[in-house]
Amino acid sequence: MYDNTNIFAKILRKEIPCQAVAETPHALAFRDISPKAKHHILVIPKGAYEDFADFIARATEEEIVGFYRTARQVLADLQPELGYRLISNSGQRGGQEVPHYHLHILAGQNLGAMVSL
Ligand code: AMP
Repeated sequence: MYDNTNIFAKILRKEIPCQAVAETPHALAFRDISPKAKHHILVIPKGAYEDFADFIARATEEEIVGFYRTARQVLADLQPELGYRLISNSGQRGGQEVPHYHLHILAGQNLGAMVSL
């Protein structure tokens, strides 16, 4: 069940600040507090969804399109022609720390290998 005390829920309620780069009716994009690349931006839906599967299962088509178009809008400012990476972690084994669905956008440098065994 969605935990509305998670840090992104607090950011959405404006209880804690963020470095916002875009806001649309269904999504908020802001800089990751601990960047893993020159540009590291998180895009989150405004609705209460835990991860990708939950978002796709329960969100309306308008929310889904609005969310991904916001991600595309953020990407447009990051020279996407030079390459970028989108990541969405889910669950403990997937490396998810914050249980509110989010897309990591990484760009601005050579990103190297995705994962190693
Ligand atoms: P994940 O491990 O996929 O759940 O990613 C959570 C991300 O949220 C991590 O990259 C954190 O650095 C980032 N993060 C945690 N707290 C904040 C915050 N207050 N503002 C911005 N990014 C945050």
